[in-house]
Amino acid sequence: MDHTDVHRESFRDSLGIVEKSGKRKWIYPKKPKGRFHNARIVLSAILLAVLFGVPFIAVHGRPYMLFDIVNRKFILFGYPFGPHDFYLLGLAMITTIVFIFLFTAVFGRLFCGWVCPQTVFMEMVFRKIDYWIEGDHRQQRRLNESSWTIQKTLKKCVKYGVYFMISFLVSNMLLAWIIGVDALERIVSDPISEHLGGFVAMMLFTAVFYGVFIWFREQACILVCPYGRLQGVLLDPNSIVIAYDTVRGEPRGKIKRNQQRTEGDCIDCNECVVVCPTGIDIRNGTQLECVNCTACIDACDAVMDKIGKPRGLIRYDSLNGIRNQVRKLFTPRVIGYTAVQVLLVALLSFFLLSRSEVDITILRTPGMFYQEQPNDRVSNLYDMKVLNKTFDKKSIEMKVLNMNGEIMLLGDSVVVPPQEPTLAKFFVVLHKNDIAKMNTPLEIGILSDGGIVQRITTSFLGPVEKKQ
Ligand code: SF4
Ligand code: SF4
Repeated sequence: MDHTDVHRESFRDSLGIVEKSGKRKWIYPKKPKGRFHNARIVLSAILLAVLFGVPFIAVHGRPYMLFDIVNRKFILFGYPFGPHDFYLLGLAMITTIVFIFLFTAVFGRLFCGWVCPQTVFMEMVFRKIDYWIEGDHRQQRRLNESSWTIQKTLKKCVKYGVYFMISFLVSNMLLAWIIGVDALERIVSDPISEHLGGFVAMMLFTAVFYGVFIWFREQACILVCPYGRLQGVLLDPNSIVIAYDTVRGEPRGKIKRNQQRTEGDCIDCNECVVVCPTGIDIRNGTQLECVNCTACIDACDAVMDKIGKPRGLIRYDSLNGIRNQVRKLFTPRVIGYTAVQVLLVALLSFFLLSRSEVDITILRTPGMFYQEQPNDRVSNLYDMKVLNKTFDKKSIEMKVLNMNGEIMLLGDSVVVPPQEPTLAKFFVVLHKNDIAKMNTPLEIGILSDGGIVQRITTSFLGPVEKKQ
């Protein structure tokens, strides 16, 4: 066996969070510290500020971002989207999936460790509370294994209380993204009986978050998250992952005083294992459980500093980089994904940029011919369907653009309610002198808020004088 193929047989058939007996192994990771952890703290603080702050941003009295799945109302960066934009949603989802494939093929699970809300909340919020109330990993284990005393009860009550309060806050934040802060404020301030549905949703979300962070924890990443499960097919030997340099580290061996070292740089101190929040040994190679939290990099770098070896025995690198010193970002697979991604982004951008605030169809009323009108004029009847994609009422007017023509609306003015379709009928009246053939092309401009929002081309049926 090559010394770089360490312990291959011993970890693929087991999970770091499961005992041999099949029972769950509770993980007590050592408090991480180091430059990567500090960088993650800064990024997590920014992400949390965004998560909690964005729902409070309003543009023209409406949320800047809203994901109202129940009422199928979405606002992205101030722009409203509704059920009629389903094709955009579908395209955006495909674009996102291809982006995930591309990003993962290049950078592995970078997203999991740095950006994923589950990791941010688990490692940067809830785990910090564990350290704050119960101490570092050894004290936590001791406390859990000890019998119940007043001090243990007190610590557990405070911890569960803080967990509940934060879960409640997170649940409120999630609701604010879905229904907006104004609706959330009403749920919080009005009597419960007036917003029973909202209150139940709030408590349900709180219970789920509480359950996930107090008990389920790292199992969410290892057993549930589909992204984690996909790593096996998304990664290849050129993907950058958090990896142990087997070439440099093996054969591992403890430091022995007053002896010339013949082993590799790994001194088998286990520091990278005790800090791991998913309970794995990264020295076994890339594993499904690794959420790229960087704790093992920091731990090993600290050890390397102490023994006077260069940092980076565990680092961001690819399998090819470590074994063959070949670091290749643009593999054929990455180039393929990039090409598809560029195409999808171009398509999505085109649809977004050409998307109008109102969608209008105008058709000549079926079964109707032209009508003679006084003063040598002729009319055609048209059906119009207007879909208002905005969250404001829209007044619509029509104008014949390519010739002198009059529009006679049947009924009152066309006012389209937000996110609703409206039907209207109108006549277009032309002078006979302007009609040269049986089927005259007609361009109708749709005006709203003082400007033309759409130009519709249709035809006008009229009489044609027989030549003598
Ligand atoms: S922390 Fe570094 S030196 Fe210690 S066991 Fe892990 S890889 Fe080896
Ligand atoms: S192996 Fe390292 S990066 Fe992966 S989860 Fe464990 S500590 Fe985090």
